Amino acid sequence: MAIKCPKCNERDIRRSHRRLYDIVLRGIGLVPLRCNICERRFYRFRRSLHSHRAAGVCKSGERKP
Ligand SMILES: [Zn+2]
Repeated sequence: MAIKCPKCNERDIRRSHRRLYDIVLRGIGLVPLRCNICERRFYRFRRSLHSHRAAGVCKSGERKP
């Protein structure tokens, strides 16, 4: 990932565990992330993830009940 921590500028970032309000934030395209170095929690708009999701929608659309 090319995302850097806003506090320590490290690239050692992982996806943070979802909390209740993260479901709401996800609705506007924000994903919770956490820095492995300083444990800073922050949010990023998903961009590249969006194209993957769109591909998944197409794939699931092939499924028939
Ligand atoms: Zn950090």
